[in-house]
Amino acid sequence: MKEKITIAVDGWSSCGKSTLAKALAKKLEYIYVDSGAMYRGVALFALRKGWVSASHTDNSMIIDNLNSIQLDFESTKPGKADLFLNGENVEKEIRKIEVSNVVSAVATIKEVRKHLVDLQRKLGDSGGVVMDGRDIGSVVFPDAELKLFVTADVDIRAQRRFEELKSKGEDVSIEAVKSNLKQRDEMDSTRKESPLIQTDDAVVLDNSHLSPGQQLEVALELVKERLKS
Ligand code: C5P
Repeated sequence: MKEKITIAVDGWSSCGKSTLAKALAKKLEYIYVDSGAMYRGVALFALRKGWVSASHTDNSMIIDNLNSIQLDFESTKPGKADLFLNGENVEKEIRKIEVSNVVSAVATIKEVRKHLVDLQRKLGDSGGVVMDGRDIGSVVFPDAELKLFVTADVDIRAQRRFEELKSKGEDVSIEAVKSNLKQRDEMDSTRKESPLIQTDDAVVLDNSHLSPGQQLEVALELVKERLKS
């Protein structure tokens, strides 16, 4: 029986991947890595510098400055790891719609992806990791013992994300949230560099009508099977 496995959780924007990945990591006492937060950290840095906007992305400035972007996860509360950008806690800022609106453009840049994939592999190389994102099972950990592809109806996803942003005090409309999700899904699944794909060995988990607890139960059963095999 294996002691610890690598778990890749991929799927569409706001489909509950990180809720599931965090709950799995907590239950199994594994490391949790939110790879999307890393892309958001780079996007926030570029946004502050004026290198990315809704209409333009200065790829070469972003690429030339990748080494000045230090990203770290630090635990601020038990079971919670915040993203720090060059020593500043940016966890709240990276979740804002302004960052969501530009992050997928930044994530199309080949050099950004290579830089972040190297970091992600380092974070997970000793096993016992749950990582969520778009290319975890296809590119970052193609040998992961368990690959989950999470999906849910787009209206349900938009409603969940809208409620989450509202609860954080963000002034945003449901239409803006839904349009951002659709736009990111489109960019993430059609980009040239490591697009979001469902690999043949991934297990599809549609959580449209599952509670977070129910989806965790389904995933834990799969973990048990993989640990036995
Ligand atoms: O997971 P989250 O929605 O926070 O990710 C934000 C964006 O980062 C995604 O829409 C996608 O463009 C990009 N991303 C990616 N590859 C990953 C994780 C996120 O391209 N592994």
